[in-house]
Amino acid sequence: MKSFTIKITGIVQGVGFRPFVFNLAKSLGIKGWVLNDSRGVLIEAEGDDAVVDEFLRRLRSDAPKAAEIENVETAEMEPRGYADFIIKKSEREIEKTAAISPDIATCPDCLADVADKGNRRFRYAFTNCTNCGPRLTIIKDVPYDRPNTTMAEFRMCPDCLREYEDPRDRRFHAQPNACPVCGPALALFDRDGKKHECRDAIAEAVQILKSGKILAVKGLGGYHLACDAENETATAALRSRKYREDKPFAVMVQDLAAAQRFAVISKKEKEILLSKERPIVILKKATHTPVAPSVAPRNRNIGIMLPYTPLHHLLINDFGGVLVMTSGNLSDEPISFQDGEAKTRLNKIYDFILTHDRGIETRCDDSVVRAAEGGIYFVRRSRGYAPRAVKIGRKLPKHVLAVGAMLKNTFAVAKNDRVYISHHIGDLENAETFAAFEKGIGHFKKMFDVSPEAVVHDLHPDYLSTKYALALEGVRKIPLQHHKAHVFSLKADAGILDRPIIGVSMDGTGYGEDGKIWGGEFFISDGGEMKRAGHLAYLPLPGGDAAVKEPWRMGVSALREAFGDSFLDLELEILKKHPKEKIMIIAEAVKKGINSPLCSSAGRLFDAVSAIAGVCYASNYEGQAAVEFEQAGDFSVPDSYEFEISKHDGMFILDPKPVIKGVVADMLGGTLVSLISGKFHNALASAVSETALALSKESGLKECGLSGGVFQNVTLLGKIVKLLEKAGLRVYIHRRVPPNDGGISLGQAAYSLWSE
Ligand code: ZN
Ligand code: ZN
Ligand code: FE
Repeated sequence: MKSFTIKITGIVQGVGFRPFVFNLAKSLGIKGWVLNDSRGVLIEAEGDDAVVDEFLRRLRSDAPKAAEIENVETAEMEPRGYADFIIKKSEREIEKTAAISPDIATCPDCLADVADKGNRRFRYAFTNCTNCGPRLTIIKDVPYDRPNTTMAEFRMCPDCLREYEDPRDRRFHAQPNACPVCGPALALFDRDGKKHECRDAIAEAVQILKSGKILAVKGLGGYHLACDAENETATAALRSRKYREDKPFAVMVQDLAAAQRFAVISKKEKEILLSKERPIVILKKATHTPVAPSVAPRNRNIGIMLPYTPLHHLLINDFGGVLVMTSGNLSDEPISFQDGEAKTRLNKIYDFILTHDRGIETRCDDSVVRAAEGGIYFVRRSRGYAPRAVKIGRKLPKHVLAVGAMLKNTFAVAKNDRVYISHHIGDLENAETFAAFEKGIGHFKKMFDVSPEAVVHDLHPDYLSTKYALALEGVRKIPLQHHKAHVFSLKADAGILDRPIIGVSMDGTGYGEDGKIWGGEFFISDGGEMKRAGHLAYLPLPGGDAAVKEPWRMGVSALREAFGDSFLDLELEILKKHPKEKIMIIAEAVKKGINSPLCSSAGRLFDAVSAIAGVCYASNYEGQAAVEFEQAGDFSVPDSYEFEISKHDGMFILDPKPVIKGVVADMLGGTLVSLISGKFHNALASAVSETALALSKESGLKECGLSGGVFQNVTLLGKIVKLLEKAGLRVYIHRRVPPNDGGISLGQAAYSLWSE
């Protein structure tokens, strides 16, 4: 006879863990009890030695799919002589660290219920169970119990209650449990706000979509705007009404087979598409794709996701084709998630709106990922992943808040060895996003019981996140340079915070320690120390931020750097396409250093070359010039341009002037843009790896990490990884957070380890 107390932590609440324990105990004849406490799940178990061992083993091996066990702590105790095994009521305690689960895609059992004519949930859009359904998006407080969610206002009917109270039922303590009798309901409105009376809102919505109209749909973490992705008129109308010119739309199809009509899909990509997180996966477009041209203009890729709620399943199954499912917002605003606000803000975009009365507590955008170098690679980590903790392999001495950067902001709260990174907040440029940021921080502090003793922020004085951090009272302020934060993020992501590495940060722009703008940086990173050891040569950024929206300005700046004033005589499209006066003004400003900060950014260099090659002069979404330049590339070319690499005062400088000259010569000689792009990628890849290898030789370090927004370019990433590995270096890339600024908060939180 053995008797144990067992403490299990991790994501073990709201994922069917107690019924699993209950049923396992019953089947083995174990006596005792299980309960949810605020730290996880607590068990007392007694039985014969062999049986208890079996019980302990299977607690881990047979755990529900959605559960993520972090730790199992067992302690032997005096036998109590229990007569049965029961589920005890939750205890409310002061400490509330039971991990909150991300939202989980509808499970096969629930899908079967929804598809079964005889089931009371036939075609019910809010079907869920302990293995699936909304979590983060509906949770208001911990512990995760129905009264602490947006489901509180729905009273369960006797049938639902029976399921909820039966430990043998899949819906035992499924907090969002509901059915057509007692749960949330759909409603369809036209753009004038008139309710569309109908028996089956989904069937009606499908007719609307089939007729080429635009439908706003309330989903899990916010509204989508949907239309028939094979209908060019509808798709183009959605673009113009949304003021979204070129940024690709994501699409939803019913299943893997349908996805294969539109994209070439690898084994890894299939796995990610079908995962319970159900992100948008960026895939290579199939050669003859029937998707309308406006879905992803000038792009070889297409973002596809599979349905992840019963509502989406019903909609796309009835529709049968492929739907644009883009975030419900106007241009760069945050995605709509509240009913009143959606109706006012999106009113000019949609023809009809399909909504429902289950509240969304936390706005959560779709996650966007791709497969790169054999694994998952994030563009945006949000729905399905947030707020899952990232374990950093070291214990933080204090509670920390990391406020992130400005664009693609995420924040993080952290304690012990865990960093809880927020959902995608967005670009912290307007009052609404800032309000979401502030509210989100409050919510996360409460959910994870973190009382920050320190706050880590960017060096940029104008970021709203920096201003927020500096205004906090009674909290230690820890500043951290942007690109150093990228490298710390990579190290935390890879679990190598203790190892010295060569850190490479190829990025957009960030505030540098010398007051200049950084973004093409090499570091020697050892513990809390990070020494800048090299960078791209500085180029003037004419007009500062204006140049980010208008890459052609950066092109002019680079031309002037490379050719002096004689650049004006070059027979280039970029110079013909823009007014002479404007070009002269930029040339003057650059020459005299007026409103032209110096910048070492790899992103801006991409802009310059993309513009000089005539690919993109003006950008209407972040990184467009670089994205389109990559998309235009032919990567089978072996040729390359050459950076001039030199060393000044112990710092490697990678000068792009010879590259600019090479691009110009090719343009004048009529070389195809695809080859120019290919050669540029080769040039940057070899300059970066050469520099990293030189640093390796100097320092003796054999490990290198790649971070920064430019590494969203997986072509460049792949080339650099290959070159470095061939030379014998071990290379780390991001796997758990994005290489872009969405990963900054993780790096900031990790850095607090060294700021006693
Ligand atoms: Zn389910
Ligand atoms: Zn019910
Ligand atoms: Fe960055």
